Amino acid sequence: MKFSRLKLLGFKSFPDSTELHLKSGLTGIVGPNGCGKSNLVEALRWVMGENSYKNMRASGMDDVIFAGSSSRPARNTAEVSLVLDNKDRTAPAIFNKDDELEVTRRLEREHGSVYRVNGREVRARDVQLLFADASTGAHSPALVRQGQIGELIAAKPVQRRAILEEAAGISGLHSRRHEAELRLRAAENNLERVDDIIGQVS
Ligand code: ATP
Repeated sequence: MKFSRLKLLGFKSFPDSTELHLKSGLTGIVGPNGCGKSNLVEALRWVMGENSYKNMRASGMDDVIFAGSSSRPARNTAEVSLVLDNKDRTAPAIFNKDDELEVTRRLEREHGSVYRVNGREVRARDVQLLFADASTGAHSPALVRQGQIGELIAAKPVQRRAILEEAAGISGLHSRRHEAELRLRAAENNLERVDDIIGQVS
């Protein structure tokens, strides 16, 4: 899978429909301070399922919606789409029948986010696993935030291991294991309750 296009509408400093074509090789974005270069990287992270507003340099997730300027009003929605080239058919099985996948996240003020893949509504988790299985995602070490190098130097070994696991593409498996463990614990609790009830009625 390759990223081929990034589309923004109403996200941070991009109130109008904006589309970036990511060609093979190196893509560089240059511009004066404050023109929105970091916002583009944040858009990429956001559409891949980032759920921490702090990682978006915001004080609430609604802050990623264009907040208005002296010449135009604020918007009520933000939408980012990432178009993936899937001609090599490396997407997870549930998404793997199309040559191109368009992953969209749309946020409506005070109503939270909705995710879609090729127009079909999916869970945030499906999107997060789609990217985790492809060794990328909102927390991929390939996306380097401002200040992140310093954090890495000061990180504990457990945090460094998480970065290596993300790079090795196994963080999706960890997340599935965690979910399975939670279900197992819930089933064990239910069994204990059944035992209690049987004890009371017998
Ligand atoms: P630098 O080179 O200094 O790191 P940059 O090009 O990376 O700058 P960003 O940090 O991406 O710039 O963008 C900052 C700009 O985005 C600021 O002008 C800020 O006001 C604007 N901005 C951030 N959030 C919003 C929002 N919700 N609505 C409108 N503008 C926003």
